[in-house]
Amino acid sequence: MSLAARAIAQRLNADHSDCVGPTVPCVGCQQLARYAGRHTKTFETVLGPLTLQRAYYHCARCDAGFCPRDRALGLVDTSLSPAVTRMVGLVGAMVSFAEGHELLHELASVEVEAKQVERTAEALGRAIATDERRVIEPSPPTAPTMYLGMDGTGIPMRVAELEGRAGKQPDGSAKTREVKLCTVWTAEARDQAGIAVRDRGSVSYSAAIESAATRDTDETPSDFAARVDREARRRGFDQATRRVVLGDGAVWIWNVADEQFPGAIQIVDLCHAKGHLSDVAKAIYGAPSDLAAHWAQQRHDELDEGNMVGLLQALRAHADTNEEAAKCVGYLTRNQGRLRYPEFRAQGLCVSTGVVESGCKLAIATRLKRGGMHWSVAGADAIIALRCCKLSGRFEDFWERRAAAVAGPADERAS
Ligand SMILES: [Zn+2]
Repeated sequence: MSLAARAIAQRLNADHSDCVGPTVPCVGCQQLARYAGRHTKTFETVLGPLTLQRAYYHCARCDAGFCPRDRALGLVDTSLSPAVTRMVGLVGAMVSFAEGHELLHELASVEVEAKQVERTAEALGRAIATDERRVIEPSPPTAPTMYLGMDGTGIPMRVAELEGRAGKQPDGSAKTREVKLCTVWTAEARDQAGIAVRDRGSVSYSAAIESAATRDTDETPSDFAARVDREARRRGFDQATRRVVLGDGAVWIWNVADEQFPGAIQIVDLCHAKGHLSDVAKAIYGAPSDLAAHWAQQRHDELDEGNMVGLLQALRAHADTNEEAAKCVGYLTRNQGRLRYPEFRAQGLCVSTGVVESGCKLAIATRLKRGGMHWSVAGADAIIALRCCKLSGRFEDFWERRAAAVAGPADERAS
């Protein structure tokens, strides 16, 4: 035990004021719980392990006990101090649980097993997810034009979580579940060419494995549409003078946009549209080649110039013999209004920063799609909530609310 930890333990253990009498009201049922001696437990703290002897009260009715001092110190139902719990939350948001264990050991000499990093980070993530649904503090828009992007990405799941789900495997089974992400940002900054680029530090994220499907008969929006609505209000997107929704071609994105933000400008992320055309080039020419690259470049130029007639003509020339080309004609036709890039640029709008796609990589893939990882829905959602909270700069706010809730009302704390 470190010197500091030992000094604190000695002081606390000599102080028996936490024994407030032979009985106290039970925290569970309010019946009288009986004093049953001092119980010893070792807590992991930033100063090292801290072994405390605390007054212990047992409630016969609940057949459970509690230590008033644990509550006062923020140590209820955990062997980790609040500061260590916070550290575990941060590493759990950023790296794998095993790496988190290593980092805590190397950087802070704090010993938390990987399994406990997992349990603690997931518990925090669940608390954050609940908090995110409950606490929506609307703020005014931070720029005249606000951007909202949506995207989906599959993450690898445990076999038991996929039973009976249809997927893209050759046998029709699924290996992944789709995480849906909503991201909000501003783009008042201009690059050297005068093109709108994303403002640093303006991005926030919210995501979960959720359905975006709303049937006409549903009275409430889908879980994901509700999430998008919360994020939009939190960021003032709904109040912005100009609202822009960016996404790839997925139909659910535009359905949510139509439902939640009628009148917002809809744009297919240019990066994605070009990627689509490059894929078609590969399909037509078999493999990546200079011919395929040349063909793709011409299509990209047509897209940039807003030459939809030329673009569709070039694709239709292959549509009879190539399925990808045929599909792409459908995709471009369906999204034509969202592909008016020269017009959007003339209005000073950001048409592609890759924000949405890179957001998906940063917020989801980097943490959840790594070799050997297999998630449960609950575990993934907890870590996604934790990570989005951290990346959106909201961890401090959550922590303050949590600290206040753990400590209980002020009068209770004083006793
Ligand atoms: Zn009780």
